[in-house]
Amino acid sequence: MKAYHDQHFLTDPHAVDRIANLAEVKGKRVLEIGPGNGALTHALLDHGAIVHAVELDGHLCEELTDRFSDEISIGQLTVQHGDATRCELPEFEMVVSNLPYSVSSKITFRLLDIGFEEAVLMYQSEFAERMVAPAGTKNCGRLSIMVQTYAAIQQCFKLSPNCFSPKPQVHSTVVKIFPRKQPIFPINNRHLYADVVRALFSHRRKTVRNCLKESGGMLDPSWVKRVIATLPDEILKSRPQELYLEDFATISNVA
Ligand code: SAH
Repeated sequence: MKAYHDQHFLTDPHAVDRIANLAEVKGKRVLEIGPGNGALTHALLDHGAIVHAVELDGHLCEELTDRFSDEISIGQLTVQHGDATRCELPEFEMVVSNLPYSVSSKITFRLLDIGFEEAVLMYQSEFAERMVAPAGTKNCGRLSIMVQTYAAIQQCFKLSPNCFSPKPQVHSTVVKIFPRKQPIFPINNRHLYADVVRALFSHRRKTVRNCLKESGGMLDPSWVKRVIATLPDEILKSRPQELYLEDFATISNVA
């Protein structure tokens, strides 16, 4: 059975400590998405973070409000009942979360869009592996390209299902994300870049030329014509998975 709201609570105290020790959170405004019953929240508060926790489950919000009433009264913690994929968020410098896995992708894109100094996030291991997969390798896809364009990522450690209750079916990986000040290669239009990456990875077995031609509505056909006329054949005849990270910028920067 699928867990309600992806609720798999961290119960291994050693794992909680390892996560909380990964970043210097003292005095920082830290966003925590999906605090659950507050294992990680407690550790973050203990390390001197100023925590803003966003939780979808109203019952858990009430429990957190009871458990941490002291920290709330001194302004060290705020608990927001909301959906982190869409709710309004206050300003924050860091993000530390054991994410709800079914919305990992939405939340990661949203956070990168908003911007932050550093994040320590736990993902399903397969997801983390896709995030770090280098361009040109089998696991590489839209997620890898988009995340690596805007951030440097470091896999820290894996946690087994035994660290959680109820146990998830998958292993988890803790990842650090450092957004870059500028994208890794200059990008003239971020919207177009995102559309190009999306269009290319919607047909990963086709050549770049055919992906662009058949991008059905995602890309302007007259722009696609110019791209095909301008780009070297070496790029056009490759498959999206064979491209270098820089090639995605080269394609989207065609005027
Ligand atoms: N951080 C806790 C719980 C992790 S489980 C721990 O490590 O023990 C994931 C948590 O995310 C659950 O509490 C779930 O209710 C919450 N959640 C699920 N979807 C959410 C969303 N869209 N926005 C905010 N919280 C969400």
